[in-house]
Amino acid sequence: MKTPIPPGPKRRLGQNFLCDQNILRKIVEFIRPAPGDFIVEIGAGTGALTAPLAPQVAHLIAVELDADLLPYLQNFQNVTLLHSDIRKVDLCGIRQDGKIRVTGNLPYYISSNILTSLILQRKCIQDMTLMFQEEVAHRIMAPPSDPDYGYLSVITQYYCNIQKGFRINRNCFVPKPEIESRILRFEFRAEPVIEFEEFASLLEKAFSQRRKKLRNNLLRTLPIPPQSLDRIFDELQLKPDVRAENLSADQYEKLILQIRQNVSY
Ligand code: SAM
Repeated sequence: MKTPIPPGPKRRLGQNFLCDQNILRKIVEFIRPAPGDFIVEIGAGTGALTAPLAPQVAHLIAVELDADLLPYLQNFQNVTLLHSDIRKVDLCGIRQDGKIRVTGNLPYYISSNILTSLILQRKCIQDMTLMFQEEVAHRIMAPPSDPDYGYLSVITQYYCNIQKGFRINRNCFVPKPEIESRILRFEFRAEPVIEFEEFASLLEKAFSQRRKKLRNNLLRTLPIPPQSLDRIFDELQLKPDVRAENLSADQYEKLILQIRQNVSY
């Protein structure tokens, strides 16, 4: 099927439609659809990915915000159309008898928000295969101390095992975006002991002033005496001048467990 391109694609909604049938085949292979799958596709657009994916699974829910695109999505078998902002969709309410798989060529202007909101709803999600602009994919996968490593990297790496997929050339889209894209697969780690809200809250404090030392950021934002924080840093073998971007996700877990005993935040 040739991807239909609507008149006047809306840049403000991140509309870049995938038009390369070879890449679409590769994306579907990477998703590895199975006949029993229940898929939620974010930002279905005019159905470029919906068309090859829906026939291979039990059911697909196509979420699309732009009312002008709904007519393109109406005639697929096996597909329920949900005209909504994905940020307002309660994924856990979508299916009662099992987990969903999530996929999508994400609208770039909110791709990090979508990712964190999916992690928050991870209890009902089996896995996620998502496309990002290459620079966001870099930030998600960056190792500690890398210039791209930050809040998004730590939170994603704490809750997910991430598989780096292939790059998608910008020529595969209409209109052509400014940068390349990359597909990533996320599976949720079984071990995390810290709940999302607590982990996110501490990270926000840790990264609140990126150029400052972690110790100073925490002292400024948490009701913890300096001696207690210094003792925790000692126990975790963290140097006093360490910065937020130097700690791995597991080190953050240990830090939170220690801080918990001293303050409620
Ligand atoms: N899946 C199509 C494709 O690959 O050709 C379109 C992908 S395009 C990058 C992103 C799509 O997300 C657009 O159709 C856009 O209208 C839709 N979108 C933008 N913001 C959205 C939101 N908050 N919730 C749901 N869909 C959204």
